Amino acid sequence: DYTRQLDQALQFLQGADRFLIVSHVQPDGDAISSTLVAGWILRQLGKQYVMMNEGAVPVRLDFMEQSAAVINLSKEQPLSETYNRIIAVDCADFRRIGLVSGLFAEGAMLLNIDHHPTNDAFGAVNLIRTDAAATVEILYDLIIHAGFALDSEAATAIYTGLLTDTGGFRYSNTSPYVMQVASQMLAIGIPSHSIADRLLERMTKPQLLLLQRALSRLMFSDDSQIAWLYIAYEDMAETGAIGDDLEGLVNYALNVEGVEVGVLFKETADGNVKVSMRSSGKADVAAIAKSFGGGGHIRAAGCQLEGPLSAAMTKLVNAVSEALAQ
Ligand code: 5GP
Ligand code: MN
Ligand code: MN
Repeated sequence: DYTRQLDQALQFLQGADRFLIVSHVQPDGDAISSTLVAGWILRQLGKQYVMMNEGAVPVRLDFMEQSAAVINLSKEQPLSETYNRIIAVDCADFRRIGLVSGLFAEGAMLLNIDHHPTNDAFGAVNLIRTDAAATVEILYDLIIHAGFALDSEAATAIYTGLLTDTGGFRYSNTSPYVMQVASQMLAIGIPSHSIADRLLERMTKPQLLLLQRALSRLMFSDDSQIAWLYIAYEDMAETGAIGDDLEGLVNYALNVEGVEVGVLFKETADGNVKVSMRSSGKADVAAIAKSFGGGGHIRAAGCQLEGPLSAAMTKLVNAVSEALAQ
């Protein structure tokens, strides 16, 4: 049960001196926050650790303490060092770890801390609670279980992970428990207004230019239950946008009255297509994503498709259509 998982996770952390903490490729708010909270827990235990991801810490998240210490593997020179003890946070499966898995020593032991329903328990030790809104919520449980006193550094990261994975406490995963935990973080005195302003309100100019292009191409299925947008590879350079600027774009498709599934297609450098899907709940987009080798949650999921863009769009929209017809 869950208490036993918390015990085993704590034993895992107490059982070695040095750890590698990793989250998923192109880390989001919960991924970075969870990485930082895991690091904070290890510091309470007097342990050494390195934090690393494939992909940079998004600029809007760099206000968090210790975020500058998170290494972006793809940008640093190749590291020859390997690690025996790994903590993977917010990764639904091993593949989500990306390039960083190349630094795992042979026979390395991995602690898998996650909230995705599609998590396949790939760790030697698994701490998984699929009704948690964010991985930071599980790390909060671990902190309480271990009896550590929260400070503003940890509270800020926990709050940020909750805020981002609940879309600003609006998605259906915003449980009473989320609000209880968030309330405790507010009581510690974190700058919640500036965090919300930075993460929910602020837009960069490239972000707005990208949105302008995406909206100009908004398309609907005949019955208007599916809406989709796309970003061609050259759009990024032409608007000056970076990967972070795609965050939230897919919601413009889902938020249209009557739309059940919103999709964003993003052409990548290799000509393939990254798909982001959002559902009102009528269709299970995790199941659709899974049928294309991806995964996620019922209402938010993703996968990669082979290019060209137009063929990928037709293929995926057809699959969504079929799922909605069932
Ligand atoms: P997003 O659309 O924001 O990239 O991802 C939405 C959700 O789907 C996230 O919870 C993420 O973990 C999951 N997801 C997105 N892309 C993939 C993918 O390629 N593979 C898997 N397994 N999950 C994905
Ligand atoms: Mn995530
Ligand atoms: Mn998450």
